[in-house]
Amino acid sequence: MRENKLLDGMALADLGRDRLSTSAFKNGQTDSFSIFSSNQIGKSNRRRVIQMLFDLGPTSRAELARLTDTKRTTISGIVQPLIESGLLIEVEPSKDRGVGKPARPLWFSSTAACVCSVVLMPEKIEFALITITGEVSAYHFEEVTPERRNKDEISKILLNGIQNTLLNANSRVLGIGVAVGGMVDPDEGVIIAMNLAPSMAGFEIKRELNDKFGIEVVIDHHPRAILVGERWFGVGRGLNKFAVIYAGNVLGCAMYQDGAPFRGPQGSGGELGHTIVDVDGEECTCGRRGCWETIATLSWLRSRACTLGLPDWENLDTEKLVAASEHDDKAHELLREYAHNLAIGISNLQTLMMPDTFIIYGDARRGRLKMENLLKESVYAISGSQAGSDVTVLTGRDEQQITMRGAAALIVSRQLEVNY
Ligand SMILES: [Zn+2]
Repeated sequence: MRENKLLDGMALADLGRDRLSTSAFKNGQTDSFSIFSSNQIGKSNRRRVIQMLFDLGPTSRAELARLTDTKRTTISGIVQPLIESGLLIEVEPSKDRGVGKPARPLWFSSTAACVCSVVLMPEKIEFALITITGEVSAYHFEEVTPERRNKDEISKILLNGIQNTLLNANSRVLGIGVAVGGMVDPDEGVIIAMNLAPSMAGFEIKRELNDKFGIEVVIDHHPRAILVGERWFGVGRGLNKFAVIYAGNVLGCAMYQDGAPFRGPQGSGGELGHTIVDVDGEECTCGRRGCWETIATLSWLRSRACTLGLPDWENLDTEKLVAASEHDDKAHELLREYAHNLAIGISNLQTLMMPDTFIIYGDARRGRLKMENLLKESVYAISGSQAGSDVTVLTGRDEQQITMRGAAALIVSRQLEVNY
């Protein structure tokens, strides 16, 4: 069953505990920090404790001390001011943890602060408030009809939507995090290109929102927001290396490695959909020939279904294809072909960067367990022993919530100086 594959939050946190290096954290008495002033030591240790909580989930003082090889009194000295400031609180211990009186884990307070989270796609813009503990409130969205798909109209929708969302905030708003369905330059806060909305190219979204609301604004590429959402509260918590593959109308990718999401200069990287997998292949929207995106998107799936003569091919999606594959040989073959085509890009990334966990989003995630098994099978068939024995392929659970949380995490990581 699927539940056996997906570990719960605490189990994942336990995995993370084993993977964390304890040598990075020392108290202020050790030589390793002698070049810092006591203020700097305090800030540095505080940041490490906050990072550990984000990595592990709710954790007791005793456990923090054990994992960091630090005296408990040192940990208490670090966390006490964070409790007094309202950032951290003590929460109920997990019921099934050991015998005797369990220690109360520390976790972030849901009333400490929140973030205005925006998911900007060409056809729809979503808004919500996300607490620092990941709860979603004040959610609403606006459809963007083709006639409104231009810079002025989208700017108006954004400003109104954010203003209305901020009116619902009951705690301090740390900033505005925006996940954009298109190429962006996160450093400059500018949209470079947006499929289906070409007039958005060059839109200075960060400056515009900064001018209007006067709080920090961070933007990033949509799959990278999903990645940090997964890292914050999903399967990615505690993992040092994993990748998100977004396979829908477009094909995108984001990778977490060495303690941070991978970002090239000006937000580049992750354009895996435009790596060439067939030198004699179809022409791609980017002008090249045989990109991965030409053989593994929803539009490819529909056009292939048309060629194979499958009924209602215009409305086909992965979920319907999986259902049809149970009784229709052609649908079964198409599903296998789609999984194989997706697995080509996954195998290339696995060979190059060696992430061992892949989380599938977009329409392909609707294939659930069947898609997971077919993808894993295909990756092994393509990569053979290179793939090792422990490649994990999962389909994402709640795409909307993970993306909103990810957009919020872009701000939280800046404000609390932690890595996602
Ligand atoms: Zn291309």
